[in-house]
Amino acid sequence: MGSKLDSALKAWSRQLGAENIDTDAPACAQAGRSTFSEPHEGVIAVLRPKGRGDVKACVEIAGKHGIALYPISRGRNWGYGSAAPAAGSCAVLDLRRLDAISDYDARLGSVSVGPGVTQQALSQFLESNGDQHWIDATGTTVDSSILGNALDRGNGYSPYAEHCVHICALEAVLADGSTITTGFGAFGEKARAANAYKWGVGPSLDSLFFQSNLAIITRATIWLLPKPEYFQAFFFSVKHDDDIGDVVDALTPLRLAGLLNSAVHIGNVYRVISTMQQYPFGEQSTVPIEPARIETFKKEAGVEAWSGTGALYGTKAQVTEARKRLKRALKGKVSRLQFLDDRMLAIARRIAPLYRMATGIDLQRILGLLKPVYGIMQGRPSSAVIGSVYWRKRMSVPEQGNPDRDACGLIWCPLISPAKGEVVAQAVEIASQLLLERGFEPGITVTHLTERAIDVVISITYDRETEGEDERAKAAYLELLERLGAEGFYPYRLATLGMGVMDGMSTETRAVLTKLKQAFDPKGLISPGRYLR
Ligand SMILES: Cc1cc2nc3c(=O)[nH]c(=O)nc-3n(C[C@H](O)[C@H](O)[C@H](O)COP(=O)(O)OP(=O)(O)OC[C@H]3O[C@@H](n4cnc5c(N)ncnc54)[C@H](O)[C@@H]3O)c2cc1C
Repeated sequence: MGSKLDSALKAWSRQLGAENIDTDAPACAQAGRSTFSEPHEGVIAVLRPKGRGDVKACVEIAGKHGIALYPISRGRNWGYGSAAPAAGSCAVLDLRRLDAISDYDARLGSVSVGPGVTQQALSQFLESNGDQHWIDATGTTVDSSILGNALDRGNGYSPYAEHCVHICALEAVLADGSTITTGFGAFGEKARAANAYKWGVGPSLDSLFFQSNLAIITRATIWLLPKPEYFQAFFFSVKHDDDIGDVVDALTPLRLAGLLNSAVHIGNVYRVISTMQQYPFGEQSTVPIEPARIETFKKEAGVEAWSGTGALYGTKAQVTEARKRLKRALKGKVSRLQFLDDRMLAIARRIAPLYRMATGIDLQRILGLLKPVYGIMQGRPSSAVIGSVYWRKRMSVPEQGNPDRDACGLIWCPLISPAKGEVVAQAVEIASQLLLERGFEPGITVTHLTERAIDVVISITYDRETEGEDERAKAAYLELLERLGAEGFYPYRLATLGMGVMDGMSTETRAVLTKLKQAFDPKGLISPGRYLR
């Protein structure tokens, strides 16, 4: 590869300027780091193009010299592979400089973004442009990408939680250097509905570009949630581990009827404890955490087996009706069902000191814990939850969390279950048992992602600096995929470690996917090994 690589680096350097290309070992090592053991050789360069023209030129150079590219938007894909390529010997194509926000349509709630646009940037842009729309924020850091998240089919909290649904007009640079725009964008700039309608006419190409390696996306239109007339968050607790199925069954009819239109997140005690504190190594040197310690934590923190969070969005009348139905549906199944809106929040803040004097309860602390998630549900991203990734670290959580830098171990396994209580409970049971046996706390969130589907997000959190943990975590993840697969549960999104699970698909399906890759990218230039081989 030596002379081909040298020629490619020279050509990229001429195109981008030497300051926008890194080949030194520390920069390449950093780009190749993730929150689990890297299964492949390192990154060979990091390229930072500025616009679509640069991207096209980078692809053409890659094609001429046979060097693969691994495009990332902000590279914050923590728990799934960060910025690290899914296969060895790639140049990372870091698209952060394509950060334009344009074509904001305040009437229809759409905006065009480049891959470099962060949650923070878009949320601030909307606030300073009349505050009429909210983004659907995620639980990750404020500097993660709107577009990168959607391309990996990420999700958030609001009625627009499924990001791959609320996006259109994808501008894609293909492996031969040509550029297409999906939907009506294929008809060029004069197409009136390019930003308002996803499908265009004829076969739709959009879906091919999510969780794939068929193109590099340089821009797309995002649909924004109109700021609702009224917003009310709700929080509840569930006493026993086994009650999760009943709660799912209580919520599904509301979701199907459209009375509950957002993604309710219900986290188990392992997930909650990791957001509130780090592993109590001072009290217990072995892992996983003792059940007795969990019981003490529950008492001290006032939490139960599961903690639910969601929000109601609509007119005051719609929210009032939904609230009534929600209360009725959850009666006897949850405890401490509490509703919170901006007015109540302001009052609580004012009375917190007096309340503490009168009752001893630290309302200020409770509000501090609720604030980030309350904001996220209103489209205001927060980096607060990143602390949970430091759960098993022996260092304290830094001001600016960066799990790659700090060798935090994290692997997500988000499987999809039908929204039926007993099925969700079975998945939770399998994951909990297996991870505890393998020495990991099974942090799990159960999310009503759509009307009919639940996202059961299982996390494996550990310290990469503990000898042997990388290998144990990887083995546990692969075993989890296998055990769940044996019961008919499959992940909707994969860590680069687990992309082999696609091999379990039928031969016919795999053959079609292979043909697609060959048609789009016969030389294997774009993100080799990412979902498609
Ligand atoms: C504490 C915590 C909470 C989290 N909460 C959430 C959550 O609520 N929801 C959620 O979805 N995720 C969550 N995550 C996971 C992850 O951090 C986010 O999904 C994050 O948005 C992904 O990073 P990014 O936006 O920088 O995308 P990137 O890392 O840039 O992109 C993701 C992948 O998509 C591909 N890609 C990116 N851009 C392009 C492009 N332009 N063209 C072609 N391919 C491309 C690449 O293969 C890349 O690896 C969480 C992680 C942590 C640690």
